[in-house]
Amino acid sequence: MVRAPRSAAAAKGKDPVSLTQLRRQAQQAYKGIEDATKALQARQKQFDASQRELATKLTQLQTATLQLNKMRKPLSDLVSSLYQDPSMSGLSPFLTGGDGATTLRAMSDMDYLVAGRNIVLSDALKLLQQQQQLAGEAQELRAANLLEEAQLDAQIDLLRAKSSKLVKSLTRTLTKLGVNVNQGNRGPGACDPTRVTEADQYPNGLLPKSFLCPLPQKGAELRADAAIAFADLNLAYKSHFGQPMCISSSYRSLSAQQAVYYQRPGFAAVPGKSNHGLGLAVDLCGGVQAFRSVQFNWLEANSKRFGFIHPDWSYHSPFEPWHWEYDPKLGAQL
Ligand SMILES: [Zn+2]
Repeated sequence: MVRAPRSAAAAKGKDPVSLTQLRRQAQQAYKGIEDATKALQARQKQFDASQRELATKLTQLQTATLQLNKMRKPLSDLVSSLYQDPSMSGLSPFLTGGDGATTLRAMSDMDYLVAGRNIVLSDALKLLQQQQQLAGEAQELRAANLLEEAQLDAQIDLLRAKSSKLVKSLTRTLTKLGVNVNQGNRGPGACDPTRVTEADQYPNGLLPKSFLCPLPQKGAELRADAAIAFADLNLAYKSHFGQPMCISSSYRSLSAQQAVYYQRPGFAAVPGKSNHGLGLAVDLCGGVQAFRSVQFNWLEANSKRFGFIHPDWSYHSPFEPWHWEYDPKLGAQL
């Protein structure tokens, strides 16, 4: 295997892959797991339906065979006894009189019965063959399904391993940037971007600690995808201004939103409506809070590369130059 030459960044000891790239790869792997799981479930559903259909067909066939078997025995017995002694047979009602026409009719009735027995026998044979074919089909279907399930399972395992490797790599990179991922016992999954969908199920301001990833700025935290994007944005800011970004507020719980709202009603979003409560918004200081400062202008020009925006409303109603937020849709395109 040929190894790709190490990049200049890697040679300097920096991580060659950006946090955003790792985040995207981890999320893609996770999406792959979700897709493969859906495919597996669909496959199982389809298999169950086919199995049910086959079982119904088999039952119908068995009933038909039973009915045929019931007919076959007396019909056979009747035909045999006719061959042996037509005069003593159960057909005697046909044979009354003894004139030629009646005998002929009796013979033809007998032919009819023989033919009937042959039809019954050949139908029974056909049914048996159909039964065997269906049983074979059921077995093949089961084998094919098991194989496909095993393949999907293997694919899911592979993606899971890949995703978990990427999340570990992300965590390591964040740790290098001074983020104590498990700080405050939030659990090692706090910075896992593949848990975002799960985090989405919590109401605004009620995100459990285990879904909030700490930022390099002490005490600040955001949802994993936003935190990773912020860590990347912070790096770029730092390399431009020589110091990290300054945060005055990040995730706000419902009670914290209420406190802010009642202190400055016109200035904070109605509690339960703020993107701070989703772990997506930050209020910045260090110059950014002043509209058209160099820091504000730099952020305005560069934040989108990292998935962060200064929302339209914050330019005027209410005017909040300090408010920036992560846009997951934009982030997903990076
Ligand atoms: Zn804000």
